Amino acid sequence: MKIVISEIPDEGLELDLKNDIQSDAVKIVSPVKAVLRLDKVLPEVIAKGVLNGDVELQCSRCLKNFIERISSQFNVVYRPASEIVRGEQHQLKSDELDTVFYAGDALETDDLLREQLLLNLPMKPLCSADCRGFCPQCGTDLNLSGCGCKTKEIDSRFEVLKKLKKEKE
Ligand SMILES: [Zn+2]
Ligand SMILES: [Zn+2]
Repeated sequence: MKIVISEIPDEGLELDLKNDIQSDAVKIVSPVKAVLRLDKVLPEVIAKGVLNGDVELQCSRCLKNFIERISSQFNVVYRPASEIVRGEQHQLKSDELDTVFYAGDALETDDLLREQLLLNLPMKPLCSADCRGFCPQCGTDLNLSGCGCKTKEIDSRFEVLKKLKKEKE
């Protein structure tokens, strides 16, 4: 949704958004919902809000695709892109604000929501906290069935112990 900055009222603007958003980085499988508040502190615009959306991720252990809900709170300051062009250094008003730039006289809320969603993707996605992944030895998907590897490992250690014991005797 395109927001023309001059049309944001002085008392601020509250938006209830539900948009289909595409991203090259991740498959977003539900409309992204957000409650967004925009306040003008010209030439800057402060954007605060919450969002959630469902994305398809690949489990880092078992490599299966799964759907995860990403939720995020954000607090962002929009600054005019012309500031970069002029190379001016401004002090940020507050350290906890992220900065994004807008060009021209409008900002695109879809870009903001997409960026905030991507920022909150898990580094190591897991289909479930106790996903068992693959056996590193035989490649069996341990979520589906067990394999003999672990027992064998214990057995062989046991054998070594028995051997040591024998050698001592
Ligand atoms: Zn998994
Ligand atoms: Zn195995």
